[in-house]
Amino acid sequence: MTTLGRTLKIRLYPVANQATQLLEMSREYQRLANLVSQWVFDHDFPLSSLKINHALYKVLRRESPLNSQMIQSVFRTVVARYKTVLEQMKHHPYRYQDDDKNWVRVTKDLTWLFKPLHFSRPQADLVRQSNYSFVNSLTEISLTTLGKRTKMPFTIKGFKQYFQSGWKMGTAKLVHSRGKWYLHIGITKEVADFDSTVSSRVVGIDRGLRFLATTFDQQGKTRFFDGEKVLLKRHKFQKIRTELQHRGTKSAKKRLKQLQQRENRWMTDINHQLSKTLVTLYGPQTLFVLEDLTDVTFNTDDLPKSVRGSHRSWAFYQLETFLTYKAQAIQSQVLKVNAAFTSQRCPKCGLVEKNNRRHDIHEYHCQQCQYRSNDDRLGAMNIAMLGQEWLDGVKHPKIRKTTATG
Ligand SMILES: [Zn+2]
Repeated sequence: MTTLGRTLKIRLYPVANQATQLLEMSREYQRLANLVSQWVFDHDFPLSSLKINHALYKVLRRESPLNSQMIQSVFRTVVARYKTVLEQMKHHPYRYQDDDKNWVRVTKDLTWLFKPLHFSRPQADLVRQSNYSFVNSLTEISLTTLGKRTKMPFTIKGFKQYFQSGWKMGTAKLVHSRGKWYLHIGITKEVADFDSTVSSRVVGIDRGLRFLATTFDQQGKTRFFDGEKVLLKRHKFQKIRTELQHRGTKSAKKRLKQLQQRENRWMTDINHQLSKTLVTLYGPQTLFVLEDLTDVTFNTDDLPKSVRGSHRSWAFYQLETFLTYKAQAIQSQVLKVNAAFTSQRCPKCGLVEKNNRRHDIHEYHCQQCQYRSNDDRLGAMNIAMLGQEWLDGVKHPKIRKTTATG
């Protein structure tokens, strides 16, 4: 079994006085979070809700209008935030050169903070049932406030399914953004794993630049997911980026950062769509086979120089991550296989020959058996073949180099 996790985003429609109540509650929550954060900072960072509870609960319960559940929730929120920061600090050690010019790395911990973590916006974490629940046949949500609980309508676009089919709701975050109120609810579900012993569909996926993905399944069907537009747009982004980098002014740097964020959001969207299309197309009990791209470089001959390099990196990994995550939800699986020779092996006679591939015309032509195919398709075929070998019990399927026999 695997536990899936998602965040359900719900829009709330409070009337004026309810909105005031929500704001008051989240301001009080924020105030306590900052008090607790200060205490944690002053007491050697005990990252345990229990310890904080022991030291602060009674005092806070006396002086705050928040109910007891919510006060406990403040402790958890603060502890979680410090843990996140600690994790980030571990990944960014401090580096300096000592007197002998040797580089020294020092792992940071929370004592490197020079002030307590600050909760800068009104917020509140609500516990299911105690602080929020759905009432009146799912037409209203009932929420804790500083006074009585209050009910209000809500909407969840396209997420009705999460109210059925075994999803469990956890803690929810009350979010106030641009005058609107939202509830972000963490939900989880236990699902069955991909079962490699029952018959399954194998889909080889070749990731590339000209085509974002080329897929090949056992029925012999090939699908191309065009990457041309993506390439063009990335090229455009790259051009503006180079200009801004040349300018080097403060405002150019700011624009550069915004541009980067825009490009990332846009690419993320493409990867979401592509992975969604793939799981919808092939459905449950599918083995999606990808090349393991660690230490692999792509042929980028047909690309403008400006987009080589940067292109291969995170976008491919992101697609892999999204696909893995979406596949799990429908009892399918992503398998990564060794990438060696996947673009050189002839699927008909098995000959592995680099020169069979003509990059300039995107064709694979086998010198031994005369088999011809589009080169992206060929990659997907070989990847699918490795996936089938894995299903047949080969632990680390791999193409081995053979030489011409003819
Ligand atoms: Zn051949």
